[in-house]
Amino acid sequence: MPSDNTQEPDCVAVAAKQEGCERILILGGTSEARTLAEKLHGEGHHVTTSLAGRTTDPALPVGETRIGGFGGWEAMAAYLVQRQFTRVIDATHPFARRISENAIKASAKAGIPLQQIIRPRWQKMPGDRWKEVRTLEEAAEAIPGGATVFLALGRQHIDVFATRSDCRFVIRMVDEPESALPISDYALVIGKPASDPECEVNLLSAHGVTHIVARNSGGPAGYAKIIAARKLGLPVIILERS
Ligand code: NAP
Repeated sequence: MPSDNTQEPDCVAVAAKQEGCERILILGGTSEARTLAEKLHGEGHHVTTSLAGRTTDPALPVGETRIGGFGGWEAMAAYLVQRQFTRVIDATHPFARRISENAIKASAKAGIPLQQIIRPRWQKMPGDRWKEVRTLEEAAEAIPGGATVFLALGRQHIDVFATRSDCRFVIRMVDEPESALPISDYALVIGKPASDPECEVNLLSAHGVTHIVARNSGGPAGYAKIIAARKLGLPVIILERS
């Protein structure tokens, strides 16, 4: 069940009537969403951020939060109407596709404007050794035999690498996985990405990493590993957005 610290609908109506105050739902889970919540809250709007609930200890934005899936786009549309939102902002991660598709359908059904925050992709810089791929399967195939591979992809994207029993994996995740991963040889690094490229250099060096598999997420949060790869001259198999 989603958890929700938002007000009940009859209180909502009062808040909606305050002059110039919009009721905004931010679809979040990113640093941009937290920054936006702070800004809009500071401007006097009534801001609710929705999180999927993927991590156990998420950084909470200012304003209200609700946590957990809506139960599909129609349920999201019903939530928008019931809570009398006047605007939806999709500030989710660029690789979170389904929620963005749901936001388009739900906002249309509810008759509420939708804004999308589009994060620019990282651009290849001199010294970057990128191999661009379009799918996780392609990424798994692109790894040379015997490689030690750093994966920073999230639990739901790991299984495809199980076919590469000829490689060793160093897997970074925000939370400890609930069960063993289907990978024959791996080390786990639990935690969020470092913002300091030197920390990432040290991590990659300590594990003897020879290749990185990453998504071209854009934004500052995961970029330190890309800088670290450049400094170490490591190849990055990079999943581009389609
Ligand atoms: P996804 O595949 O697009 O969404 C799958 C389902 O999860 C959605 O249909 C929805 O369930 C629920 N969901 C996703 N985001 C939600 C949100 N902000 N609030 C409420 N429900 C949400 O999403 P994902 O790739 O698993 O990402 C989940 C969340 O993690 C997003 O908020 C995203 O910003 C954040 N995040 C993702 C990545 C990434 O690499 N994908 C990286 C960093 C942060 P219902 O259909 O039941 O409503």
